[in-house]
Amino acid sequence: MKPSPTRRQFLVTLGRVLGITALAGVAARVCLGGRADAEFIQPPHRYGWQINPEACTYCGLCETACVRGPSAVKAVNDQKKCSNCVACYGHLCDLKTPSALIATTTKLVCPHGAVQRNHFFGGLDGAYLYSIDADRCTGCAQCAKQCNAHGSKSMFLVIRPDLCLGCNECAIARACPSHAVERVPLYPIDDFRGEYMPEVT
Ligand code: SF4
Ligand code: SF4
Ligand code: SF4
Repeated sequence: MKPSPTRRQFLVTLGRVLGITALAGVAARVCLGGRADAEFIQPPHRYGWQINPEACTYCGLCETACVRGPSAVKAVNDQKKCSNCVACYGHLCDLKTPSALIATTTKLVCPHGAVQRNHFFGGLDGAYLYSIDADRCTGCAQCAKQCNAHGSKSMFLVIRPDLCLGCNECAIARACPSHAVERVPLYPIDDFRGEYMPEVT
């Protein structure tokens, strides 16, 4: 028996509705399903926060703005750029201090005595190696400020990846007046651990 025109029309409409529904389901799986899966794909590397030394003005906020105490920010000295001066702007308050008295003076830029001065050629006026004792450094930026204002710009601040808690939004980035703290790709944390402060002998 042939379906009546009304019944045939109903079946055609039902077929169209089911067809459209099926197509919409496939489209949703492709579009929405693909996007949802992508959220759970492990990124190729972690992200972390780091200070752009070109933008930092050494305002000192890094010491107190970090949620960690002491701050995850530490000063470092790039040995390839350092001039190894007898008297260092990042170390001494008074550059006219006689060289024989530098080792014993208490007028130092770092309030915590974290800037270390060591001979590496020997001799009173030989070359000097300046490094930062990270255990004492609070990230106040005073040494880097002086070095960048008057010296060879070899001192700067870093957020130590092995100390940073990796906050979703870095409190220093929020506070920094120079927008110097950026979210950057971070390679496996073991690559950084212990690499900052080579022992000076
Ligand atoms: S808050 Fe910004 S400008 Fe100030 S020391 Fe830290 S990174 Fe540099
Ligand atoms: S002056 Fe400040 S930033 Fe530099 S080593 Fe001392 S505590 Fe660290
Ligand atoms: S991400 Fe958090 S722990 Fe790391 S430097 Fe910023 S405020 Fe400090």
